[in-house]
Amino acid sequence: MSELQLTDVRKSYGGLEVIKGVNLDIRSGEFVVFVGPSGCGKSTLLRMIAGLEEITSGDLTIDDIRMNDVDPSKRGIAMVFQSYALYPHMTVRENMGFALRFAGVPKPEIEKRVKEAASILELEPLLDRKPKQLSGGQRQRVAIGRAIVRHPKIFLFDEPLSNLDAELRVHMRIEIARLHKQLAATIIYVTHDQVEAMTLADKIVVLRSGVVEQVGSPLELYDDPANLFVAGFIGSPK
Ligand code: ADP
Ligand code: MG
Repeated sequence: MSELQLTDVRKSYGGLEVIKGVNLDIRSGEFVVFVGPSGCGKSTLLRMIAGLEEITSGDLTIDDIRMNDVDPSKRGIAMVFQSYALYPHMTVRENMGFALRFAGVPKPEIEKRVKEAASILELEPLLDRKPKQLSGGQRQRVAIGRAIVRHPKIFLFDEPLSNLDAELRVHMRIEIARLHKQLAATIIYVTHDQVEAMTLADKIVVLRSGVVEQVGSPLELYDDPANLFVAGFIGSPK
């Protein structure tokens, strides 16, 4: 049974349709990667799932409940932004607890969840630092920690590693794969990096100009690409 379902989802800005009837089934615990060139609609799709952007037409359901008009904070979803979205004047601890404090979660519960996330992400020694005292990789882990403390069922990542250098990207990719196993969460991950997609995904969704070109496992896409666009993007010989 699918946990998250998109049915003929469309998005227009002004008169221009940028998401053109997307259908998708995502199962609980799956690591799903959206790939495609810049401007194809990856972020727009993610933002509609998160509730940060209105769906022009079509349906979004989570556990069979229609979510189109449900408040972002009530969807059981947490979005991981790029690391520069940390609050510079707050410590790591405050950054991670902020959304919970805002939501009225009691202080002891916030402390417990921040500790738990810090332990998973190996951030315990850094809890009292400010973002400017952290490396790029450490900041990105804090950004992930802010999502973990909310105990979401579904994590959304929008090109979380694009600001990091090549070496750190490889390291963080391994961390994110480990995290997926450890949390047993559903992850929807956006990237324009084929290698990231091939190594992380259970299922890859290839997008072009607001249309899903193909959905499949990395191996399926490599062995049997639907068309030249997918073949070119995945790097297989078709
Ligand atoms: P991607 O994340 O794949 O690079 P986006 O989802 O950001 O692509 O954008 C998809 C298309 O929608 C692009 O053509 C972009 O210019 C357009 N777009 C995105 N956001 C807006 C907006 N707020 N207003 C108008 N057009 C937008
Ligand atoms: Mg984008």
